[in-house]
Amino acid sequence: MAKFVFVTGGVCSGLGKGITASSIALLLKGKGYKVFMQKFDPYMNVDPGTMSPIQHGEVFVTADGCETDLDLGHYERFIDEELNYTSNITNGKIYSSVIEKERRGDFLGATIQIVPHISNEIKNKIYEAATTSNADIVITEIGGTVGDIESSVMMEALRQFRLEQGKENTLFVHTTLVPYLFGSNELKTKPTQNSIIELRRLGIQPDIVVTRAPVELGDAVKKKIALFGSIPVENIIEAKDVNNIYEIPLNFHRQNIEEIILKQFELKITKSNLKDWEELIYTVENLQGEVEIALVGKYVELEDAYLSVKEALKAAGYRYQKNVKIRWIDSELLERKEANIKEIFKGVNGILVPGGFGSRGIEGKILACQYAREQKVPYLGICLGMQIAVIEFARHVCGIEDASSREFNEVCKNPVIDLMVDQKSIVNKGGTLRLGNYECLLQKGTLAYKNYNQEMIYERHRHRYEFNNQYRELLEQHGMIFSGIHPALNLVEIIELENHPHFIASQFHPEFKSRPTKAHPLFDSFVKSAIEYQK
Ligand code: GLN
Repeated sequence: MAKFVFVTGGVCSGLGKGITASSIALLLKGKGYKVFMQKFDPYMNVDPGTMSPIQHGEVFVTADGCETDLDLGHYERFIDEELNYTSNITNGKIYSSVIEKERRGDFLGATIQIVPHISNEIKNKIYEAATTSNADIVITEIGGTVGDIESSVMMEALRQFRLEQGKENTLFVHTTLVPYLFGSNELKTKPTQNSIIELRRLGIQPDIVVTRAPVELGDAVKKKIALFGSIPVENIIEAKDVNNIYEIPLNFHRQNIEEIILKQFELKITKSNLKDWEELIYTVENLQGEVEIALVGKYVELEDAYLSVKEALKAAGYRYQKNVKIRWIDSELLERKEANIKEIFKGVNGILVPGGFGSRGIEGKILACQYAREQKVPYLGICLGMQIAVIEFARHVCGIEDASSREFNEVCKNPVIDLMVDQKSIVNKGGTLRLGNYECLLQKGTLAYKNYNQEMIYERHRHRYEFNNQYRELLEQHGMIFSGIHPALNLVEIIELENHPHFIASQFHPEFKSRPTKAHPLFDSFVKSAIEYQK
């Protein structure tokens, strides 16, 4: 039977609960245990797939095709394990599944109530994560802040879970804020004390408290939190602000968090293996110079909307000891009459057009892509960025002036990007995109093949529209290379251009498979070309 770590948060959001959960998982993996992770989100959407990036940041896609919270991206990057459908549970998912069972008659005449029906469903999702993953330790993060109305039933389920499993099988980590007051120049513990009290009112006594603070706490402050929180002082773990989130696991490691957890679980305490992570920190701290990549999107004021792309670029930079600096370019600005494209891209070493939905800012992205193609600046297109590259090429190289995507123009005469037949009858927006892993066969002798150095690859998708095969021959005649194809469905997955030092775009999202310790081949080669271009 697995052991369970629950990570809750108090005082305010944005304290780095996701990073805390990921760090704990990474450290326990470093002790040789098989770990698995889960995030509970208390909102009523079934998943974040239909939410605007302004509401939610990036939607992370798992290999098995679930649209999930961006924290799952942190989890995968930290623990380097593929997560699945049991990894992101929302109130919407829980309620809709309970109501579906009720309609089916599964409850045999009972009155359906929050306790026990909803709370049981939540507990079942925790057990399901343990059994399907076969993990030794499951780490579950609860979104929101303790005391929220939304998450109260989730907290109730955790209280019951502890009762069922006992203290030797469950452990509660509570992350809080210890603010520093300027003027009186001191750290304040009251918000943390109150947050622990709030948690206890829900029937949960934390075992470990992780304190986010701008400076070191010092013994007196730690002792105070320990006393008021009824927690051993060594179980107060400091999360001091850092420059790079990857430092956090090692900070926790120095405070023996793994040993505290393993002791409570009555599991063997082995020697830690954190070699890869230590090497990563060394690399990050010893970068030599930088390379600048323009990222052209419509939510650039909101970097979280492109979180995995940003992390994948940084990871590729680490391979070459370079800091990747991102120039965030709002595609709508490029569309303005007075926009000077040359000036806007002056000094960038590569251009990346990431995924996106809807028609706003599309023409600006096309201009960026045209600039990259004509000026021979390295280009990486992701999903929408591939569709943009196809439209741009069809318009400006093949002379199909009105080439577009059915997504932006329903009555378009030349939809070089179109809906597939099986998408045409779909009415529900949620969960109906082409999602998750699909296979892709690489053509020998292409840049794609050179990057991956293998024939069959599996990459994650999230889109509704596809390359329209009716235009394949024509585009090929003009110098577009179709280097990756889904063999059974004959779908274009990767395109490249002849006579360009580095122009490649994929219908899938490579960023989801990148790890800080293992750059993704497409990002790796893109950043490498950007470094060469810089020279
Ligand atoms: N909007 C495009 C589609 O649905 C691209 C999606 C994306 O970039 N993720 O096909």
